[in-house]
Amino acid sequence: MQKLKYESPVIQKMNAGLMNKFGTRTEYEPVTHIDGVSVNRMMADYGSPLFVISERTIRQTYQNTVRAFKTRYPKVQFAWSYKTNYINAVCKVFHQEGSWAEVVSGFEYQKAIGNGVPGNKIIFNGPEKTNEELTLAINNDSLIHIDHFEEMYQLIDLSEQLNKKPRVAIRVNMDTGIYPMWDRFGFNYENGQAWSALNKIVASGKLQLTGIHCHIGTFMLSTEAYAIAVRKLGDLAYNCKTQLNTVIQYLDLGGGLPSANTLRGAYLPGADTMPSVDEFAEAITNALMNIGFAAQELPLLILETGRALIDDAGYLLGSVLANKRLSDGRRATILDFGVNILFTSFWYEHKISPAQAFTHHTEDMVLYGPLCMNIDVVRQSVNLPLLNRGDKVVVHKVGAYNMTQWMQFIQMRPNVIMIDEKGNTHLIREAETLAYIEQVEKMPAHLQQINL
Ligand SMILES: *Cc1c(COP(=O)(O)O)cnc(C)c1O
Repeated sequence: MQKLKYESPVIQKMNAGLMNKFGTRTEYEPVTHIDGVSVNRMMADYGSPLFVISERTIRQTYQNTVRAFKTRYPKVQFAWSYKTNYINAVCKVFHQEGSWAEVVSGFEYQKAIGNGVPGNKIIFNGPEKTNEELTLAINNDSLIHIDHFEEMYQLIDLSEQLNKKPRVAIRVNMDTGIYPMWDRFGFNYENGQAWSALNKIVASGKLQLTGIHCHIGTFMLSTEAYAIAVRKLGDLAYNCKTQLNTVIQYLDLGGGLPSANTLRGAYLPGADTMPSVDEFAEAITNALMNIGFAAQELPLLILETGRALIDDAGYLLGSVLANKRLSDGRRATILDFGVNILFTSFWYEHKISPAQAFTHHTEDMVLYGPLCMNIDVVRQSVNLPLLNRGDKVVVHKVGAYNMTQWMQFIQMRPNVIMIDEKGNTHLIREAETLAYIEQVEKMPAHLQQINL
């Protein structure tokens, strides 16, 4: 048993807005290991801060999610959403598990090709696709999801030039009872644009209409919204068959399933309130079965789940730089990572655990990052054991969107490692260096010299 530190007592001012009726949750155990690997060891070897990805958790989460859908519906295919985390090692775990790729830009498309994904298993989404990118996608027989009429005409032009019949789907947006509606992407269902786009595609004779797509939002907490989406896409698919003589091969429901993170300002922890993946699967597959297709005609169900498949597998390890008292008496703890690499702290109340033994003395505190910028707040208010300079912390469920939306602002991006299923650690993205950052800068000749 380690001797605990002496903590001097303080008189605490009450802060409103912290408690819910079940009381605040505090930490009882330090998190000293991830998948059996010592947190201290990893930080000694790879530095602080450090992103850690658990390969085992990715595979388990993926397999559980796939099982929830495949046990309920005969034809299911997942496509890994690259923008959620496109570190190649992460993508490869998903591809080894059988996931296709879903990309929203030409650069992500190239990454998927580089990772060995066959062209016909890449779904190309997004509002911006250049002629070069579309040409490549057409030649690779990829699934191109049309976002707007301009893109439809662009594809018709290209199909004539290349003398090919690209495989296309349209993205549809609709009212699923969730507001604000994501109606800026794709064609609207209610105002008839979606049906008109389908008509035009078939009438052109130049494009192969193979699917219908939607992505109704992210961190969706309503299973019914998905059921509504399926009914609306199903209605379009059914009309394609009966009125346009075109069989829709797949319905792509996009992503949007929540992870177990807690949204900022939520009354209860996310893990206690969000529907399970089985509940989502039940709502989606029931609605699919009820569209009216015969068993052998049921469309393939594609899912582009991002966040829900990777959030749990990511951790951020960091160190305490300092403590201070704010003018209102609150304790403030300053960490060596901030919103620069933990972008999701704008949306989530991330769970943070000390990585070493602590006293039972806790305090409400604000956690700041290291940036010289006022908005650099990791947790606005959290009840934690007291942390001291040099102490280590573990942030949970950070696998989604942080390693793509991170910014090289004031601090550079740190190492990312993966713990494989045997407990070995692998560096999968190296910490950035000044040379890396400056590699793409150019200095005009007249600015070469300075004289101070
Ligand atoms: C971002 C995105 C996804 C993944 O969304 P999650 O909410 O992370 O599941 C899937 N499809 C499209 C088109 C996207 O833009």
